[in-house]
Amino acid sequence: MGTDVTVELWHKSGKAACADIAAVMTEMRHIDATMSPYIPTSILSKMNRDAYKAPVVVGKEVYGVIADSLRVSRLTNGAFDVTYASAGRYYNFRKHIHPTSAVLAQAIKSINFRYLRLDPRNYSVRYLHKAVYVDLGGIAKGYAVDRGIAILKSRGIHRAIVSAGGDSRILGDRFGQPWVVGIRNPRNKNQEIAVLPLMNVAISTSGDYERYFIDKGVRYHHIIDPKTGDSARRVTSVTILGDSATRTDALSTSVFVMGVARGLALVNRLPGIDAIIVDDAGKLHVSNGLMHMTADHHTNGE
Ligand code: AMP
Ligand code: MG
Repeated sequence: MGTDVTVELWHKSGKAACADIAAVMTEMRHIDATMSPYIPTSILSKMNRDAYKAPVVVGKEVYGVIADSLRVSRLTNGAFDVTYASAGRYYNFRKHIHPTSAVLAQAIKSINFRYLRLDPRNYSVRYLHKAVYVDLGGIAKGYAVDRGIAILKSRGIHRAIVSAGGDSRILGDRFGQPWVVGIRNPRNKNQEIAVLPLMNVAISTSGDYERYFIDKGVRYHHIIDPKTGDSARRVTSVTILGDSATRTDALSTSVFVMGVARGLALVNRLPGIDAIIVDDAGKLHVSNGLMHMTADHHTNGE
């Protein structure tokens, strides 16, 4: 997944806890081997090679993640679109490479989630347009975190946190205390813009500082606006809170593309979802559900 995975949990026995953590890590490796676009033997790679020629049977798991991603695409009018990678594949953030405008103009013709045809009868996917390329990087980490929590629950764990990069899910509390998650200042990694006490919730942050380079004063980073194929630059950080990490992961990427006004309008009409956004001027914006919390916090704190 190109990211660090961490698991913390409470268990009476250290030995049993190690077995629980190992079970989560085995699942993480399985998901990486199945959904990575960089591993030629993954189901995702096979789909990207063959799905324009004929439907590719991807199995229930990959099918489910793609179906979830399409739901978020419809919800966000295409701000979230796993076919963004039809253009996104031409960036290399490690090597500081971005595509020319000519390459982009051609590549964005293949971005459209409606070019994916899913067949639930045999869990297959077909691409309806040439040069379509799918990357699940905006949703797979959240899915992996949800799977990690499901495995821990099935093993009788009641208090845990599982994280993969910017995506975390928290199970229970820490014996009467909440877990505490900090959100960093997008322009200063040593500073936090908020510290949240949390229980039984998923939290995802998307930032333009995770994978990026600067060329001629322009920041190129890994969150791509499907309309243009260029990096989204309306905001610098988006944190989403909700029940499912698959959802919060996809929504943090979506709201990053949508920006403050459209992003908050969407979040405010989704029950159980909240957002904390840092705009391009460094200003903080929060969804309606968090207004009371910040107001209370302020009055209690002063
Ligand atoms: P996150 O850090 O969760 O926001 O995910 C960023 C990752 O999502 C990128 O590294 C890409 O793999 C993927 N991605 C980038 N732009 C989009 C988009 N518009 N829709 C869906 N996935 C995207
Ligand atoms: Mg995300």
